[in-house]
Amino acid sequence: MSAERFEFQAETARLLKLMAHSVYSEKEVFLRELISNSADACDKLRYEALSKPDLIGEAATFRIDISADKDAKTLTIRDNGVGMSRADLIDNLGTIARSGTAKFMEAAAGAGDSGGAPVDLIGQFGIGFYSVFIVADRVEVTTRRAGESETWAWTSDGTGAYEIAEGDPAKLRDGRGAAITLYVRDDEAEFLEPARLKHIVKSYSDHVPFSIFVADGEEETQANSGGALWRQPKSELSEKDYTEFYQSVCGGYDAPWRTIHYTAEGRHEYSVLLFLPTMAPFDLYDPARRGAVKLYVKRVAITDDAGLLPAYLRFVRGLVDSQDMPLNLSREMLQNNPIVASIRSALTKRVLNDLGKAAENDADGYEKFWRTFGPVLKEGVYEDFERRDDLLALCRFYSAAKGELISLKDYAEAMADKQAAIYYLHGEDLERLKQSPQLEGYRARGVDVLLMTDPVDGFWTGVVTEFDGKPLKSVTQGAEDLDALPLEDAADETPAANDAAMATLIAAVKTALGDAVCDVRKSNRLTESPVCLAAREGDADLQMRRMLNRDEGPCVLELNPSHALIRSLSEKAGDGAHQPAIENAAHLLLAQAQISAGEAPKDAAGFSRRLTDVLSTYAG
Ligand code: ADP
Repeated sequence: MSAERFEFQAETARLLKLMAHSVYSEKEVFLRELISNSADACDKLRYEALSKPDLIGEAATFRIDISADKDAKTLTIRDNGVGMSRADLIDNLGTIARSGTAKFMEAAAGAGDSGGAPVDLIGQFGIGFYSVFIVADRVEVTTRRAGESETWAWTSDGTGAYEIAEGDPAKLRDGRGAAITLYVRDDEAEFLEPARLKHIVKSYSDHVPFSIFVADGEEETQANSGGALWRQPKSELSEKDYTEFYQSVCGGYDAPWRTIHYTAEGRHEYSVLLFLPTMAPFDLYDPARRGAVKLYVKRVAITDDAGLLPAYLRFVRGLVDSQDMPLNLSREMLQNNPIVASIRSALTKRVLNDLGKAAENDADGYEKFWRTFGPVLKEGVYEDFERRDDLLALCRFYSAAKGELISLKDYAEAMADKQAAIYYLHGEDLERLKQSPQLEGYRARGVDVLLMTDPVDGFWTGVVTEFDGKPLKSVTQGAEDLDALPLEDAADETPAANDAAMATLIAAVKTALGDAVCDVRKSNRLTESPVCLAAREGDADLQMRRMLNRDEGPCVLELNPSHALIRSLSEKAGDGAHQPAIENAAHLLLAQAQISAGEAPKDAAGFSRRLTDVLSTYAG
């Protein structure tokens, strides 16, 4: 049968071009990527063979072989794993069916010519196989799916197309798996040296749990330690061992921030090796919210997707190896498995405890972690009722008073006796929030406000009403509480408009604005600004309304009776002659309040006309 030609998807082709033309600081990572794919293929077949032992027959020892041919300038990585069918080849190597590709391209373009950055991106974006084009100008994949009778050869020079033809089974071990042959570029000849290859295997893939052999002439030597690192005692493992394992087996590409390694004994026996990353993976906010903790049973990898941790801990990478789950467990059966449920609960507790310890002992590290993963952890406050208090204790928020991240406990401890609630203000942008008129009355009374800028804050604050017995309140939702608290500096107590005049002004503004507001009232939260918007008591807070794009009708407009402008308007409000001026002022004040809340004035044309009128009085 002759070869058939296929075009790469446009995105894939662009990516390949980028791979081949980038300058990398650590080119050798391509080998780690190929070994990691081979190990996955062995894991897959070992799992499939549990229910179909014929797939492996007598050849049950999995291994990965690396051999170079200096004359032909080829490097071959071969495994006796699950292999690929023709359709698999097209699906897996012809397309990058990943939402992250576009993001990768953006990130890589952003990294520019800085050289090193794209390599970090390779693993991060899960495009491992294509990294072969960093060192090769042509690649041939010979493969046979375990249990099938046809062997295929996929070849490409990494430009626009690839070919699939019948392959030579003699290239495979045990008549299955894959042999990936790289036609190494002239200037990359170092990757044809057995000593160099052994060194790379040792440095990057030492703890891949299958034997990796490197051929040197007739001789073959195992270049890695192999074995199940997670079953080794902690005392025998170094930070370097853990990092390498994290990168070669757990799909990490950064260095782990924290490592959690232990064996649980008792009702269930299992080993746990988890890593908390330092950097966010590209798909952290993918709607699928997939986790990255693999389930092994008696050292056999069963699935990547056992739900061993709740979705809000999806950034945790690693594995759990159970001693007492049945090996013949189907992936479907895992969903309601009581052992999985029990492991999940124990693991969650362990991770949250570890984060708690880190928060205490490594404040800087924790703050960095929080800035990267805090928004994900906060999803748990919303959805994990049982652990809500533990999660709230781990949360950090920007304190308007202190100008740094603090915990709710810190906030509560600094509260004045008469302060009735924990106050927060939610919006999109920290700098804008800091300027918000909503904060003025709080600042003047020495009351701290937590500024929240993550979309998820709008959700959890909707279900959490208190912390440690203290109510949690958005400053946009009513500010009656403030009356009970004295101003810090009595000199701030500027003379306010008298109540009767204020009532007249409020009535006049209400009439002028009609349906554009749901109420107009006196404000006690303002000191410097004349006006601000507020939510009706009991309504969603302002930012939440914006996020949900829910038109709950107009807001409340609050007037600051101590502001000179409002005072002078109030004095004129009773006088019919000033009615047109009051009306104009009412509209302009509403627009001003909308602008400082981060909204556009609803009546832009009217706003512009009125402002021009006012400015014209300056022009004389
Ligand atoms: P990833 O490993 O992140 O899925 P890759 O681009 O490295 O991405 O590989 C794409 C897919 O090709 C893999 O998911 C796997 O299905 C298949 N594949 C790659 N190498 C092998 C191999 N040695 N044996 C079997 N399948 C493989």
